[in-house]
Amino acid sequence: MFGKGLAKGLGITFRHMFDKKITEFYPEDMPTLPPRTRSSLALNTPKCISCGMCSSACPNKVITLTTDKNESNKKFLTSYHMDLTRCLFCGLCTEACPTKALYTTTEFENAVYFREDMQWDMMQRYRDKVASGEIKEEVKPETKQEEAKDNG
Ligand code: SF4
Ligand code: SF4
Repeated sequence: MFGKGLAKGLGITFRHMFDKKITEFYPEDMPTLPPRTRSSLALNTPKCISCGMCSSACPNKVITLTTDKNESNKKFLTSYHMDLTRCLFCGLCTEACPTKALYTTTEFENAVYFREDMQWDMMQRYRDKVASGEIKEEVKPETKQEEAKDNG
């Protein structure tokens, strides 16, 4: 019948006119994403034990880290970089991390103009977050007893 499609389309339009409004006014209002959203990654440097499990777990070789040893033969991070151009945000690296030093976040405004800006210096990003007051600096336990106490 002529006009059947039009009537159907108008019917859908009228139905949605009375639905709950779902428009979000981003960027004026920031959306609240579900807490388990994996749209970014962050490193809590003092919690990192330099084991390299995150890097081994990554299927795309996104993570490059270097370590050194202190006078008590304990490893510490000297650099930690991520190449976000290759990241799938699969979360395998965070699952592999035994101390939860590496974690996913809901930050999603990661668009940049230049590819070089997708090379993330994770230790620097941690320092920036502490400096901006976004997170509180973790105090690294100096002794094994303190470490055990921190872990409950
Ligand atoms: S989220 Fe996935 S792809 Fe990205 S760094 Fe972690 S393991 Fe690699
Ligand atoms: S798995 Fe966790 S603790 Fe180990 S090097 Fe990676 S971020 Fe650090």
